[in-house]
Amino acid sequence: MNAPGQAGCECDRYPDLANIPMGFDGDDEQFFATISEIARHGGSQWWLWLGACLVCHQAWQVAQDERIFDEYLLQRLDPTAAELIQTANLWPPNFLRFEDVLRELGKRSNFPNWFDLNDSPLVYTIRELMEANPALKLEDAAGLVGLNAVELGKLRLDGNSR
Ligand SMILES: [Zn+2]
Repeated sequence: MNAPGQAGCECDRYPDLANIPMGFDGDDEQFFATISEIARHGGSQWWLWLGACLVCHQAWQVAQDERIFDEYLLQRLDPTAAELIQTANLWPPNFLRFEDVLRELGKRSNFPNWFDLNDSPLVYTIRELMEANPALKLEDAAGLVGLNAVELGKLRLDGNSR
């Protein structure tokens, strides 16, 4: 665990696109200690918010996935992009679809092991992914949440299991 830098924030420690696991080694606590939420997307994009650093004023677009990976996905924003969010609710396209958030986290993180596939967020997450993007195939939606064909076969997708 690194002590905060001289500036007192961790913004310089991360690349422009980064992920931070939730509750792992305190990395998220350290980073978010100086990040204040200044806008939230609202609507159906429940995962998406805008933060700004209280120390260096850097703006970050934050996608918060508490369903599959338990990770934050961060994108550094320039002041113009941050202002567009605050004044016009115009967000960069990268994290607007949960599908894209999961796709990016899938490259960066490990899929969890579920004790019970049907007692997990998997069923409704797959449903929501396919509702949001009708062109998305079931197999592809399952792949985004880390399920192979055998696991997908065990999932009770048609029942009211939620
Ligand atoms: Zn900072």
